[in-house]
Amino acid sequence: MREPTLNTSPSPGDEAKTTTCYMCACRCGIKVWLADGRIRYIQGNPAHPVNQGVLCAKGSAGIMQHYSPARLNKPLLRVGERGRGEFREIEWDEALQLATDWLAPIRARNPDELAFFTGRDQSQALTGWWAQQFGTINYAAHGGFCSVNMAAGGLYTLGGSFWEFGEPDWEHTRYLMLWGVAEDHDSNPIKLGLGKLKARGAKIVAVNPVRSGYGAIADEWIGIRPGTDGLFAFALIHELLRMDRIDLEYLVRYANAHWLVIRAPGAADDGLFARDADGHVLCWDGRAATRADAIDISPVVVGECTLPDGRVAVPVFQLLAERYLDPQYAPDAVSERCGIPADTIRRIARELAAAAFDSKLSLPVAWTDSWGREHAEMTGRPVSMHAMRGISAHSNGFHTCRALHVLQMLLGAIDTPGSFRYQPPYPKPIPLPNRPGKARRPDGTLDAGPLGYVHGPEDLLVDADGQPRRIDHAFSWAYPLAAHGMMHTVIRNAHAGNAPGAGGQRIDTLMMFMANMSWNSAMNTGETIAWLTDKDADDNYRIPRIIYADAYASEMVAYADLVLPDTTYLERFDAISLLDRPIADADGVADAIRHPLFDPATQAEGRDVRGFQSVLLDLGARLGLPGMVHADGSPKYRDYADYIVRHERAPGIGLLAGWRGVDGEAHGKGAPNPEQLQRYIEHGGFWREELPESARYYKMANRDYLRWAQGFGFAASDAPIVLQLYSETLQKFRLAAQGHGPVQPPDAHRQRVATYFDPLPIWYEPFEHDQTSREAYPLNAVTQRPMFMYHAWGSQNAWLRQIATRNVLYLHPDTGAKHAVADGDWIEVGSHHGRITVQAKFASNVQPDTVWSWNAIGKRKRAWALAKDAPESNQGFLLNHLISDVTPRGDYANADPVTGQAAWFDLRVSIRKADATGTSQPQLPALAFAEADERPLRYGARLRNAQFHSKAAPEQPRRKPRP
Ligand code: SF4
Repeated sequence: MREPTLNTSPSPGDEAKTTTCYMCACRCGIKVWLADGRIRYIQGNPAHPVNQGVLCAKGSAGIMQHYSPARLNKPLLRVGERGRGEFREIEWDEALQLATDWLAPIRARNPDELAFFTGRDQSQALTGWWAQQFGTINYAAHGGFCSVNMAAGGLYTLGGSFWEFGEPDWEHTRYLMLWGVAEDHDSNPIKLGLGKLKARGAKIVAVNPVRSGYGAIADEWIGIRPGTDGLFAFALIHELLRMDRIDLEYLVRYANAHWLVIRAPGAADDGLFARDADGHVLCWDGRAATRADAIDISPVVVGECTLPDGRVAVPVFQLLAERYLDPQYAPDAVSERCGIPADTIRRIARELAAAAFDSKLSLPVAWTDSWGREHAEMTGRPVSMHAMRGISAHSNGFHTCRALHVLQMLLGAIDTPGSFRYQPPYPKPIPLPNRPGKARRPDGTLDAGPLGYVHGPEDLLVDADGQPRRIDHAFSWAYPLAAHGMMHTVIRNAHAGNAPGAGGQRIDTLMMFMANMSWNSAMNTGETIAWLTDKDADDNYRIPRIIYADAYASEMVAYADLVLPDTTYLERFDAISLLDRPIADADGVADAIRHPLFDPATQAEGRDVRGFQSVLLDLGARLGLPGMVHADGSPKYRDYADYIVRHERAPGIGLLAGWRGVDGEAHGKGAPNPEQLQRYIEHGGFWREELPESARYYKMANRDYLRWAQGFGFAASDAPIVLQLYSETLQKFRLAAQGHGPVQPPDAHRQRVATYFDPLPIWYEPFEHDQTSREAYPLNAVTQRPMFMYHAWGSQNAWLRQIATRNVLYLHPDTGAKHAVADGDWIEVGSHHGRITVQAKFASNVQPDTVWSWNAIGKRKRAWALAKDAPESNQGFLLNHLISDVTPRGDYANADPVTGQAAWFDLRVSIRKADATGTSQPQLPALAFAEADERPLRYGARLRNAQFHSKAAPEQPRRKPRP
């Protein structure tokens, strides 16, 4: 019998196109294989610096994201009541004319009446600039409810941060501590790095109430109680100080350990740095005060000194030692609160010190520091740390992030071989020079970008009475360092401000992009929905107009008056820009693009969508916004691709750094190059330049690095960046609260500012832990984002839904026994804010005082084109219904008092067996989106036939149900 002729290694498709994945925030390089004009297969791009060929489940399921039945296909105008989901399709001209008609009077009257907030988009370099040109201070992206504590804690301390702006030295570290890290950020680089550590036998310690994902392969799991990470860090600092296992030379050379602080309680200069007549910070050399930045000094770091003018001053290190050697931070004192045995804390401190100081790592690389000293080698401290939302999404998260950085500094473990490393363009000056815009120029534009970094009370956005000017109250006395804005407060404040006689800020139009604020991105989801739909006595919506742009039929679409349909990530141009969230790594600088693999019109019958960034530029031109029109009023940019290539933020600096200059030979700075996007496409969609070997460590004080960074426009000068153990910026706010200076908080905020603006990191109970009864709500409740899904997007994806279509509440079996709950029981979960009914599942990978669930799998009925009986909406749930957007006292947002970061993980709950079973509660009415197609989404059968048999006609995408 003859064997059939089979092609056992068929080509994945007719052609492969390289672009950037957008199935999560990681921005991996991908190769998209096409066959007969349809996606056949997605694989990782081995040449790409981010993922080096690695692809995760989400990335490969991008096929199903592109062909999702939930795609929006036409602009939509609301026809029914807001929130029902009843729309009629309109043409783009009508949609853009409407938006122009709504926005033009606002800009003429008061640009702040436009609140423009974006979600997890990757184009903030454009959207922030657009808001500045419009002239509104009311702009932000999603960082305020994500991890601004991480960003601000790092930037005000190190001039860099964890998140995806820094990384462990995967090649050399011998001890890695992961603090509160789930699986959703920097995903593939961390997986690759952990693989290297495992192969080398380096120790990985995961500090997290839940052992999942990366923690599952850690050598040691520290099941910490939520909100106590700072206390644990202080106990480690206490032990290191007590054992005298710190790197004092590093602290004096690269940090401000020796800087003198005025000690004059009650005086206007108390707690500020002592400076000479020229403003240089002073230190004490044992005999006299001298410049702290002088070369080769041996300053005193303990004790007290008297300055020539008679004032008393102490070195920063003295203050630090006084604070953290206090017995309240001893391991025995914090053990019970943290849920970590004191012996474990002591052992971890010894292990950290041993890894840092006893390993004698040094790299034979000569380098020159900022002061011109030449070093024959780079001394290593192979202890690294990485942290993320688990530590930062608490009301004490800012100080916890600072605490981790102080711990790293004491070990000499910032940008030394083996430690945490900056990724260019970081480090940046401390604080960053760009302050938030406050005033409007004659042409109506804001005098600076709406977001930035305050240096002191004078930079706040408050009125003459000290009240917030922004709709979200960012940069007010309530949340002064809210560097990423506070998206989680916008809808409440917009509703309240528009109430008669409320006296708050009024807005006219709320414009949002990719932000599911009526569902999983909202705290207090139920009331948020009510605020979006509430009307005044004249039957007008309290929030008069809502414009929303999204690619998919999310829950938020139902609350828009005008819906602008965005493309999928495979139909658009994007810039992964150094002006936004770069994809650089510690050894090189890089950026990337996306480019359209398809014309959207070919992707479904009647599909007529546009990239939101191009729409913004079109809208800006119709509004005549400066920067978007020529002198004759004609549009300056054809679309976003044109903007990416031709827009210059400063002379020679644009969104992309590669292939600049008229001949395309310049990198970093250079004139716009019309062929730039083509060069990116030819080079796999990305550009990367390697750092000189001598510039790869000690970046904060490495002359070669700082000059290289200056050449790229990352830094204004090559001056060293001094790490701030002690933050004078915070002390300036505290002094204002104590009655000093021309800008002071209203009396209602004084105590709060004085308490939380401590220049050295502090720990305090998360507000909800402190303000609710431990007996009534004995458990902590947290969420994690699943490794296989990203925000709300994953639950529309036919392949990812095969992994999970619903979530459950996980609890430790001991916790179940304690509360008379059995595995699989339906339980009622209550908080000070609300109650939900969910199904419980036992898992022993959680510390017993904590319950947890996957985030954003629960869906509103009929949203995302899911069937009406989809498990996501019938058995899945949101913990958000339990999370209040204000503290239990109701006095402030449920947020960090320094940065305004949403305190998602402060939640305390009770559990008890429920009477009803089978369906999660609450169940909100189904959206009036068109009946979802319940047939399973099949993909590939025709392609397979075409591959192995004859060339069949390409499978046609089914028309998606219209909302
Ligand atoms: S980690 Fe994120 S960006 Fe990378 S392949 Fe997976 S989904 Fe795509």
